[in-house]
Amino acid sequence: MPIFEYACRDCGHQFEALVRSDSTPECPQCHSIALEKQLSVFATTSAGASAMPEMPPGPCGASCGMPGGSCAFR
Ligand SMILES: [Zn+2]
Repeated sequence: MPIFEYACRDCGHQFEALVRSDSTPECPQCHSIALEKQLSVFATTSAGASAMPEMPPGPCGASCGMPGGSCAFR
């Protein structure tokens, strides 16, 4: 069951809610259903963690700009 983060448009209260497909969440503070769905924190985090780094670290382990690790001799 997905967890969504909502912000209430009436009182500005932010909360997380388990959302079923057949139910509508409401604000736990003022019971309004005028809610704005926020971007899921969990989805963003998992997507970023599973993404491969675009550039692997070089032989020097740093971006020294010298390919082949020649900066290690300096
Ligand atoms: Zn509210």
